[in-house]
Amino acid sequence: MHVLILGGTTEARRLAELLHGTPGLTVTNSLAGRVASPRLPPGEVRVGGFGGAEGLAAWLREHQVDALIDATHPFAGTISFNAARAAATAHVPLLALRRPGWVPVAGDDWHEAASLEHAAELLPGLGERIFLTTGRMGLAAFAHLSEPWFLVRSVDAPDGPRPARTEVLLDRGPFTLDGEREVLRRYGIDVVVTKDSGGAATAPKLTAAREAQIPVVVVRRPAVPEGVREVGSPEEAARWLDQTI
Ligand code: NAP
Repeated sequence: MHVLILGGTTEARRLAELLHGTPGLTVTNSLAGRVASPRLPPGEVRVGGFGGAEGLAAWLREHQVDALIDATHPFAGTISFNAARAAATAHVPLLALRRPGWVPVAGDDWHEAASLEHAAELLPGLGERIFLTTGRMGLAAFAHLSEPWFLVRSVDAPDGPRPARTEVLLDRGPFTLDGEREVLRRYGIDVVVTKDSGGAATAPKLTAAREAQIPVVVVRRPAVPEGVREVGSPEEAARWLDQTI
């Protein structure tokens, strides 16, 4: 049996670890190739796009894939849409593994944004020293904001358009609460911008912002494609696989 995991997340790696060594099961992990030196999961690893939904469907057939698990980041909407189309075309069972989103608690000052562009619109009224944790790929949405100062944290250095007043902090989660408190203090941050990525690895910034009474702009995640079954943990995904193939 052959399972293809569309990865690039902590949950995808954890799932690969859970499945590793299962007798009779080949696990292929697929990475987009965005990060220069990714943490590699156990099992086979392939890197790079498939060439849209058609390319992915062809790959599923050619490699005789029995089940497809889309464990990509909740904000990786294109590949999830392609996975739904490809699975339907190639008649391969598909599961979406999405870590649950974050929910505000008492003391949080959250401002929901429908997109990165909407987040950029909200910023001028909220603060002047902005901690932008939405990743280097979406930086262009903020590039026109010339007044505020931005601390941009990303795994690899951003190379596209960016706001005029930007400092880059290269770092990769998981992050600690003490570390996040220190970032807010050292850089005099007065607004945090985040995607609703969910999970524990990047959540401490939310606690640090609550403690410091700093507003947080939270970008809502795109919906899982219609009709696709969704689970919230690698353990549930492993159970689904066991029952499916
Ligand atoms: P995206 O916009 O949904 O995908 C763009 C294209 O990248 C896809 O059409 C596909 O190319 C290729 N691709 C994406 N994920 C792939 C995978 N796992 N294996 C092979 N090809 C893949 O995705 P994105 O937002 O750029 O994210 C890219 C990767 O980074 C994802 O794997 C995701 O899990 C990870 N990631 C994303 C975020 C985020 O905030 N978006 C955060 C952390 C990690 P083809 O059409 O040619 O197949």
